[in-house]
Amino acid sequence: MSLTTEEAVYATPTPATNNERQREASRRARSTAEYRALDAAHHIHPFSDMGTLNRTGSRVVVKAEGVYLWDSDGNRIIDGMAGLWCVNVGYGRKELADAAYRQIRELSFYNTFFKTTHPPVIELSALLAELTPTPFNHFFYCNSGSEANDTMLRIAHRYWAALGKPGKKYVIARKNGYHGSTIAGGTLGGMDYMHEQMPSPVAHIVHIDQPYFFGEAAADVTPEAFGLERARQLEAKILELGAENVAAFIGEPFQGAGGVIFPPSSYWPEIQRICRKYDVLLVADEVIGGFGRTGEWFAHQHFGLEPDLMTLAKGMTSGYVPMGAVGLHDRIARALIENGEFNHGMTYSGHPVAAAVAIANLTLLREEGIVERVRDETGPYFQGLLRDTFAGHPMVGEVAGVGLVAGVQLAKEPATRGRFENGAEVGTMCRDFCFNGHLIMRATGDRMLLSPPLVITKSEIDEIVEKAKRAIDATARQIGVA
Ligand SMILES: *Cc1c(COP(=O)(O)O)cnc(C)c1O
Repeated sequence: MSLTTEEAVYATPTPATNNERQREASRRARSTAEYRALDAAHHIHPFSDMGTLNRTGSRVVVKAEGVYLWDSDGNRIIDGMAGLWCVNVGYGRKELADAAYRQIRELSFYNTFFKTTHPPVIELSALLAELTPTPFNHFFYCNSGSEANDTMLRIAHRYWAALGKPGKKYVIARKNGYHGSTIAGGTLGGMDYMHEQMPSPVAHIVHIDQPYFFGEAAADVTPEAFGLERARQLEAKILELGAENVAAFIGEPFQGAGGVIFPPSSYWPEIQRICRKYDVLLVADEVIGGFGRTGEWFAHQHFGLEPDLMTLAKGMTSGYVPMGAVGLHDRIARALIENGEFNHGMTYSGHPVAAAVAIANLTLLREEGIVERVRDETGPYFQGLLRDTFAGHPMVGEVAGVGLVAGVQLAKEPATRGRFENGAEVGTMCRDFCFNGHLIMRATGDRMLLSPPLVITKSEIDEIVEKAKRAIDATARQIGVA
């Protein structure tokens, strides 16, 4: 089919059968070189060194189906990262497209300010109340995980003010945690390289060390003792600041962008104990962990945690459209509801199209039993295969994870937790081998990360693990290990 470039670019998406042809046409609309030139001329990418990127050129991804992506050169790539940890139901699901289409025709937009609401946001809220643990019955909407964490800060502040404790302002977070990239999200996160590029951080946010056993524990410490040690930094910090000044502690149940770091099992119970003891809110950042990633609906359930607030995004819509939310424990919701106006909101808070897509997405996750399959079948299979494949590998120090998320630690001396001096370079080298082998596997420093769509099959898992092994072997050969 030959469309002119302009027709292809502006072609309206139409239902199923034409869809494929049109995507095919738009794929041929420009050559890779043309796309790259235009991209370099006009597009600033997130978290990128644009000078370098513009000289080498980006990979142009033009279509996706299930767990596979296609680039503008026609290569088929298996997506071991579910986009950016978000495409839980896989790419190209008609149910989500139909939900968006129907909602756009019915009510493409209306706001939820000024005493108004609409059916999709009402239905989504009721559905989330069913899917989240019992004490969570209220939800505030935004467009991203960053905004969810920003919103969470305001809710926590408002909560303590309502209880007559406005002095409780400090939020304690972790180094190498990730909570988004707005000023508030970036401040809550513990990434120094992000803090360095802010005019000034948000006040009343402080950090303690992360529970990263492989990377930071002394040689003679057990994981359990290390977990307690790191959790008790929270107590020390609360005492240092004064409990009357501390509003909340925030953590990802497992760290995602920081390297898929799973804390020792002693860590979360101790954190929870400390939060209760000093009357500090416990916030679970569920932006990655939420909606089935660990085989539970929410990652805090895997760890047996009972948070007061949770922040949601990514898997909530499987990334088909942007949406984020904050879930409020009844206790918090009550204080917020009987406390006058909450001066916060986004134009698109509870956007009807995003809400309709979220409902379709969550309905698929529930009705197809996708979360249970991750817990009982694909998750254990994935974890078992990774551990078997890399057991005794000369360059792999540990495989961490549960369900369909994993971190593979590259190490110079796996047995003694000895790390490479140039770990980030080794990780990048490995990621490039993956890329060339048509596998998307992310590197954070010297850890290789996997977080595939939750609909992945066992044979697709086989493909990912085999390609990951090939890339890690190639890296080992290149740097002369093995
Ligand atoms: C991605 C992420 C965020 C930020 O979400 P955005 O939608 O990118 O703003 C926040 N917290 C965690 C744990 C994340 O992984």
